[in-house]
Amino acid sequence: MIPVIALVGRPNVGKSTLFNQLTRSRDALVADMPGLTRDRQYGIGRVGEFPYMVVDTGGLSGEEDGVDRAMAEQTRRAVAEADHVLFMVDARDGLTPQDEAIAEQLRASGARVRVIVNKTDGLDADVVSAEFYALALGEVTPIAATHGRGVRGLMQAVREDV
Ligand code: GDP
Ligand code: MG
Repeated sequence: MIPVIALVGRPNVGKSTLFNQLTRSRDALVADMPGLTRDRQYGIGRVGEFPYMVVDTGGLSGEEDGVDRAMAEQTRRAVAEADHVLFMVDARDGLTPQDEAIAEQLRASGARVRVIVNKTDGLDADVVSAEFYALALGEVTPIAATHGRGVRGLMQAVREDV
């Protein structure tokens, strides 16, 4: 079975940007499977010989009422269907209460989670990553999704986990 990797995190942290990076390889295709709901996007990608399915749990602009409840529901569904969760946070915003809430939910779920600090372009990756260790979800991986920086190494690390 191909591993399923879900991207979770609050709006605007860069989930869709990373999704596009992870699925733009030559054989990327959007999966067209029955039962997939419209607020998520599925794609196929690979790193070397390692194929994976990626799920973007997007669909929130951040403007809606009840955004926290909607995030919790998206996170719950992502955990249910994924082998591996990439929990994205934003280096420019720093650690937010919404990040803490999602982290608490993920810790309680027992899912295999990796914290991804995005938007580290132009920043010292080690410095901006440090505060996210407080999420107590283990190792923190800095990337810059728009530039693809760190993405290949990230997926190699995921491959070793799954
Ligand atoms: P989503 O809501 O989590 O899916 O976030 P998006 O992928 O739509 O990205 C939100 C905004 O952050 C967009 O304006 C992106 O261009 C920007 N963004 C995403 N990744 C990066 C990054 O690595 N560096 C910077 N500087 N901006 C980024
Ligand atoms: Mg999105």
